[in-house]
Amino acid sequence: PGAGKGTQAKIIAERFQITHISTGDILRQAIAAETDLGKQVKEILSRGMLVSDEIVVALVKERINQPDCRPGFVLDGFPRTVNQAQQFEIIFNQAADAGKFAGKKKVVILFDLSETEIVRRLTARRFCPQCKADYNLVTKPPRQDEKCDRCNVNLQRRADDNRETVSQRIKVYLQDTAPLIEFYQTHGLIRLDGALPLEQVTKE
Ligand code: AMP
Repeated sequence: PGAGKGTQAKIIAERFQITHISTGDILRQAIAAETDLGKQVKEILSRGMLVSDEIVVALVKERINQPDCRPGFVLDGFPRTVNQAQQFEIIFNQAADAGKFAGKKKVVILFDLSETEIVRRLTARRFCPQCKADYNLVTKPPRQDEKCDRCNVNLQRRADDNRETVSQRIKVYLQDTAPLIEFYQTHGLIRLDGALPLEQVTKE
């Protein structure tokens, strides 16, 4: 959390003209729309816990099989457990067997960042409720104090970007997600220094 995966995923998607899939965004949209899924996961997100593997794998399976994913896609925030990664291998191979993603290569990127910096960044993170643009009072400040550059409305904070939930998210990361580093070691894992300036991370 807070290492810059969302920011960089959007840049990569734009640059390579591929689809950006953020499981966090999909879940937050469901919460905002008050769908059955949204009602089911609202409290889990606000507490900084992980949504069940079953739910997110089903979401990703449905999403990657849509036509806009044919040229390729960038997954942002998925997989977050070894089980999700194993399930992803299966659903990806099924899609590939059905003739999708021919000639596409899988790349996994890890953003390395210290816990202190994660807390500093996440508590400074803001977004525009209107156009959804992301800001960070530390790394990507708006021109005018806490107002969107484009819409001029007051910026907001995500429900899970408070100090307490951030600590919980880091704990969950260390326990459930960090084992993926070992899992992907043999899948050409690319390790980047997430503490570098935004543009430098993109370049790397
Ligand atoms: P993110 O926007 O990636 O920081 O995700 C926000 C929250 O959504 C996480 O703290 C989880 O509660 C939930 N979430 C997003 N992606 C996943 C995933 N792959 N597995 C389980 N929960 C997820």
